[in-house]
Amino acid sequence: MRRIVVLAGGVGGARFLRGLRQAVPEAEITVIGNTGDDIHLFGLKVCPDLDTVMYTLGGGIHEEQGWGRAGESFSVKEELAAYGVGPDWFGLGDRDIATHIVRTQMIGAGYPLSAVTEALCRRWQPGVRLLPMTDDRVETHVVIDDGEGGRKAVHFQEYWVRLRASVPAHAVVPVGADRATPAPGVLEAIGEADVVLFPPSNPVVSIGTVLAVPGIREAIADAGVPVVGLSPIVGGAPVHGMADRMLAAIGVGTTAAAVAGHYGSGLLDGWLVDTVDESAVKTVETDGIRCRAVPLMMTDLEATATMAREALALAGEVRSL
Ligand code: GDP
Ligand code: CA
Repeated sequence: MRRIVVLAGGVGGARFLRGLRQAVPEAEITVIGNTGDDIHLFGLKVCPDLDTVMYTLGGGIHEEQGWGRAGESFSVKEELAAYGVGPDWFGLGDRDIATHIVRTQMIGAGYPLSAVTEALCRRWQPGVRLLPMTDDRVETHVVIDDGEGGRKAVHFQEYWVRLRASVPAHAVVPVGADRATPAPGVLEAIGEADVVLFPPSNPVVSIGTVLAVPGIREAIADAGVPVVGLSPIVGGAPVHGMADRMLAAIGVGTTAAAVAGHYGSGLLDGWLVDTVDESAVKTVETDGIRCRAVPLMMTDLEATATMAREALALAGEVRSL
């Protein structure tokens, strides 16, 4: 199993990838990263999920936080606040800002995001090929109550970071996805893959957004190779964050089995649930998806590498490779 394609969001995806790289150092890993979380701030293009993967695998991540740079300072943010210039709810650190300046400058010079990402990775050497899902602009919006009896759409980051997902989400819309095309290399990587993995990333706003780019879901379903996912939901709740809010918005329950059912047997061949969700195995298998219960907490690198080995072992079982 040499060529592995992984669809990834930010923290959950990045941490899993570190384990995968440890488990199979010889494998060629292509990451198709979510760009629906991207946002323009202070004239800069920020790609939170791509950067989380790049920093995590490149050794620059703030470990405890899971996103942003280690040893970060916030002088620019403080200076902007002194001018009264917002938003003040998005934590852009000084080191991180340099990444966004380089990216914005290259995009301004006409380079597509995929080329920019490749250039940034030349510094970080993440040990995987990191591709944005698309070079086109896609922005996830969340529909919430406007407080006046109506509804309004806000940028995903505003919902997630400023509002901390504290109000119900009625819908999640990847604006622009329907007109987007997969970035160069994405469909080729899927077509040449030996296995496709869905890490324990958010099924709606991370993996769901990648799958919303026309052509990607179809390419995975038609690739004729095992597609195996790991549940981000353990014991009926997200391990971190507010994924339950996003699942509710699309009418999917916050259980490991419901997420598998949401992807469906047309896409997924295998699904790993945590040992506390052992009872979900039968339900998932009834849906036509091979399922195993194994420890799914990414507490350290070795535990995460073991999860990656389990996912590859399940891939080996579902179709003869
Ligand atoms: P984001 O873009 O930073 O939100 O990151 P992802 O979408 O890649 O991953 C977020 C998901 O990772 C959340 O729904 C968490 O429940 C899940 N997650 C985080 N840590 C763990 C873990 O240790 N085990 C499992 N199974 N899921 C995790
Ligand atoms: Ca994200």
